[in-house]
Amino acid sequence: MNFALSDEQKMMIATVRRFIAEELQPLEAEVEAQGFLAPDKARAIHDKAKSLGLYAMNIPEALGGAGLSAVDTMLMEEQFGHTTDILIRRAFGNVYEVLLAAQGAQIARWLTPTVRGERVCSIAITEPGAGSDAAGIRTRAVKTPSGWELSGSKHFISDGEVSDFFIVSALTGEAGKKEISLFLVDKGLPGFTLGKDQKMMGLRGTTHLELWFDKVPLEPLALLGDEGKGLQQALGVLGRVRLAQVGARAVGKASHVLQLMVDYAGQRKQFGQPIGDFQLVQQMIADSVIEVNSARLMVLHTAWMLDQGLDARDWISMVKVQAAEMLGRVTDRAVQVFGGMGFCKELPIERYYRDARIYRIFDGTSEIHRTLIARSAAKRGAALFDVNA
Ligand SMILES: Cc1cc2nc3c(=O)[nH]c(=O)nc-3n(C[C@H](O)[C@H](O)[C@H](O)COP(=O)(O)OP(=O)(O)OC[C@H]3O[C@@H](n4cnc5c(N)ncnc54)[C@H](O)[C@@H]3O)c2cc1C
Repeated sequence: MNFALSDEQKMMIATVRRFIAEELQPLEAEVEAQGFLAPDKARAIHDKAKSLGLYAMNIPEALGGAGLSAVDTMLMEEQFGHTTDILIRRAFGNVYEVLLAAQGAQIARWLTPTVRGERVCSIAITEPGAGSDAAGIRTRAVKTPSGWELSGSKHFISDGEVSDFFIVSALTGEAGKKEISLFLVDKGLPGFTLGKDQKMMGLRGTTHLELWFDKVPLEPLALLGDEGKGLQQALGVLGRVRLAQVGARAVGKASHVLQLMVDYAGQRKQFGQPIGDFQLVQQMIADSVIEVNSARLMVLHTAWMLDQGLDARDWISMVKVQAAEMLGRVTDRAVQVFGGMGFCKELPIERYYRDARIYRIFDGTSEIHRTLIARSAAKRGAALFDVNA
């Protein structure tokens, strides 16, 4: 068992961290104040990150990505946590691995341009009536002589405004059967309209759109992967995305906030001494240090399982709950350590607190993942927690 980082990994981490500190963090306050990232700035950070080889690092080299292992991906994703969602999307890309199911002509039309950063893609699964129950969707694609016809709606679709196309889940096959397929749906198709941007508590700068499909004609080529296997395909790769975008990023975000807490506790004086000298403040810092380190070990252990080809689904659920809730506790303590300044918009602490809240909800709520873990414990027993099992 070797927990040491290689020189290469250390260099990669330092490069991404420097890039985030120099190019992305200076934009955060502006995005928060304006509510959007100016297109010229989005282009500039994209071009710079790409020239450093930092775009679409999760995608295999043969397809134009960096081909990182799961462990290396998580080390990078942890660094991404040191900045905000919209800046990560524009600088480093958000190439969903479900797109790797693209075949034949789909590769040149949808996959390659997305890996190159020439097209942006979002994933559209959630509907107003179907969130946790992703199989409960009503959007349907019906076979026609020329392909498919898509009708229905989605909501909360991240990055919807800038996306050029969407991976959309829809019912296919006989009515009454829960057969779901995935489709590549280009913006601009007749009958496809964008709804309103649903304003959120945090994640300023990222749009979350409603999508409406009214008999949208799709070519046969639009079917991604196997007909009727869409949900399995999506869930098969979303685990790794969850580990990266929730698990690893939560660890990065929490360690970023923790550093600010430690610095503030050392500088801020009350009763003639730094507040960091008070044991009750020390407890908040100590608990945060313990929790950040535990969550990171879980993320890396789970990534290692993926690299070994092991079934990591239970561990991904455990990380999803642990890292998301850890981030909530750390940002809550940060507000407390900063006192009134933690609540005041003059500092970014209140923003970190707001941005942390969604981690317990998207990519499967804490309740859903706890249910999966408990079911697995009932089925697999000690294999889930005993090293001797
Ligand atoms: C900022 C943001 C970005 C998003 N981005 C995307 C995106 O890009 N693409 C996309 O497709 N979706 C996206 N979503 C949707 C997100 O994945 C869902 O919000 C999430 O899956 C929860 O679904 P829901 O909101 O419908 O809540 P519900 O499923 O209605 O859940 C409500 C409450 O009931 C609980 N609950 C539900 N079922 C059970 C159960 N069986 N046992 C116990 N408790 C249960 C939940 O845990 C929760 O507490 C996004 C959402 C947000 C807020």
